[in-house]
Amino acid sequence: MKIRILGASGGIGAQARTTSLLVDRDILIDAGTGVGDLTLPELRAIDHVFLTHSHLDHVTMLPFLLDTVGADRERPVMVHAQEATLDTLRRHLFNGQLWPDFSRLPTPEAPLMTFQTLPVGGEVALNGRTLRSIPVNHVVPAVGYLARGAKGSLAFSGDTTVTDEFWKVLSATGDLRHVIIETSFMDEDEELSRISKHLCPSMLAGELGKLKSAAKVHITHLMPGREDDIMREIARHIPNNTPRRLERGQVFEL
Ligand SMILES: [Zn+2]
Ligand SMILES: [Zn+2]
Repeated sequence: MKIRILGASGGIGAQARTTSLLVDRDILIDAGTGVGDLTLPELRAIDHVFLTHSHLDHVTMLPFLLDTVGADRERPVMVHAQEATLDTLRRHLFNGQLWPDFSRLPTPEAPLMTFQTLPVGGEVALNGRTLRSIPVNHVVPAVGYLARGAKGSLAFSGDTTVTDEFWKVLSATGDLRHVIIETSFMDEDEELSRISKHLCPSMLAGELGKLKSAAKVHITHLMPGREDDIMREIARHIPNNTPRRLERGQVFEL
């Protein structure tokens, strides 16, 4: 299993792209602006999209993906998420107002997209790869994912603030090799981090204390323009085995 980082920023501008991970050629985890850098053949090859939550920076390219290559495909794109997330997409995005309802178009019998309810904690196996959803703690219902390949597992938090279940699952994952965790803001924005249910470096340090694993830790979802400041604060809190910044284009083999 190969995981390529398409977007790892909390926003846009210059080289920044919002959250998306490409698993092999056919699976996306989140559909942030990084998806827009894929070629048409790469876009056509996507059969599954797993969503962490409904926020726009994580779903924004899904409508364009379907509009651009949906009609060229023989099968619908399967969109996996918990029911609350799918419900938000149905009511507020693919509602015939903001964008066509491609779960019923061009015909209800053969739509461009199908919604697949993945209960929190549920797992999907796809040709030797498994994706398991893990509850996290954000302002809307949200999950992280544990992606397992032949050579180990990678965990991705999506957007979260302080949480216990995520770290429990990771600590019980014997073959865990990489953890991608968000840190959106600087310590001076701790109050904002709590209100918006994200993490700042001091909160991250507390969270990583819950991880019983030697897996490598990578930081994502940094606020554009503050990346170096946030990483410097992280290094101050965690001087040993300091997490690295997740980079767009980075590839993990698992
Ligand atoms: Zn969010
Ligand atoms: Zn986000």
